[in-house]
Amino acid sequence: APAPPPARHLFSDPAEVEALRRDLLAWYDKCKRDLPWRTLAATEPDADRRAYAVWVSEIMLQQTQVSTVIDYYNRWMQKWPTLQALAQASLEEVNELWAGLGYYSRGKRLQEAARKVVAELAGRMPGTAEDLQKLLPGVGRYTAGAIASISYGQATGVVDGNVIRVLCRLRCIGADSSSPAVIDRLWDMANALVDRSRPGDFNQALMELGATVCAPRAPLCGECPVKQHCQARRRKLFGKPTPVPDVEDCGVGDCPLCPPAAEPWDSSLGVTNFPRKAAKKQPRVARTATCVLERRGCHGTPEYLIVQRPSSGLLAGLWEFPSLPLAQGLQEEKQRELLADHLQAWTGWPVAAEGLRLVGEVVHIFSHIHQTYVVYSLPLDGDMTLDPALSPARWVTEEEFRASAVSTAMKKVLE
Ligand code: SF4
Repeated sequence: APAPPPARHLFSDPAEVEALRRDLLAWYDKCKRDLPWRTLAATEPDADRRAYAVWVSEIMLQQTQVSTVIDYYNRWMQKWPTLQALAQASLEEVNELWAGLGYYSRGKRLQEAARKVVAELAGRMPGTAEDLQKLLPGVGRYTAGAIASISYGQATGVVDGNVIRVLCRLRCIGADSSSPAVIDRLWDMANALVDRSRPGDFNQALMELGATVCAPRAPLCGECPVKQHCQARRRKLFGKPTPVPDVEDCGVGDCPLCPPAAEPWDSSLGVTNFPRKAAKKQPRVARTATCVLERRGCHGTPEYLIVQRPSSGLLAGLWEFPSLPLAQGLQEEKQRELLADHLQAWTGWPVAAEGLRLVGEVVHIFSHIHQTYVVYSLPLDGDMTLDPALSPARWVTEEEFRASAVSTAMKKVLE
């Protein structure tokens, strides 16, 4: 069996755990940000409604900043205040409201899960983290823990990016924080630490600390409510972790939680030595030709042709200008020809490659794709009607375009 990690990586002193909970909660009560989902969770008497409010916020907050989410959240809760209301919405409506928030499958899965709760669970949310994760599509371990602790008071921990950073610093964990062994250890730690009487507040406090004080690059250790429990800070101030557990030091021995021996503590980094991650995979590079077809609508207003993407895969069900993925290294002339053929297939009208005007390029970074759109335009004369037998397509004014379920990338293309 592997040797247990040194004591400094653990919270083994019950008195210290109690003090940490008390200090963190006192700070949270005084300093927490006012956020709409917190207000809802604190004032809504019905636990299932509370769970729905927390669930929506947690899904929106995945990979997205709080400041961006607030407006989307308020509009969502106004439109669909209950999961019964959400279950009756169409995917088109969900995509329209989600447009610009990114990672579009989140909205779709949220709505599918709401339908499942209504159809299969008699409209009642599962009340524990285990059941939430098991029964709701799109709800992972973190989201389940957040909903269960905040809405139902279950004493279960959460581990997200903020919690990983805080715990790794509190306990000098320098092994790859994305590795399953470290993640498992952090979940054990979060479950052991969570305050039994205020689990939801404790979890939010730990995340809030990571978001506002224990920041990735410039943590405010001087203002930190748990600084006296922080091994990384001690190490920075005193050069050694204390209490010195035994002969092991970071990088020495085979401790599964220490930094690798080849990358020991770097004193110029201080507490930001932790956490550490294996190098990120480079995003895939992709090029797509896209064409803004424009006609004059009534009163001479410009209208643009948009088409709908397939219902699965990247940007599922969203609308876009007709687009065609390109192989790398294609000559411009060839690109233009392929795009003209593609447009002809979409619209059913003859499209001449020479008529396409190259406008420029738009770069958009998705989480795992570095995407370049090569943008063409094609002004059209006369009434270009669409063949309803072909794939879904429609003409929209600029205003209608902005209100449609289109991605941020396509808004950049129109600009
Ligand atoms: Fe983070 Fe600094 Fe607080 Fe430690 S003392 S938890 S590094 S902010």
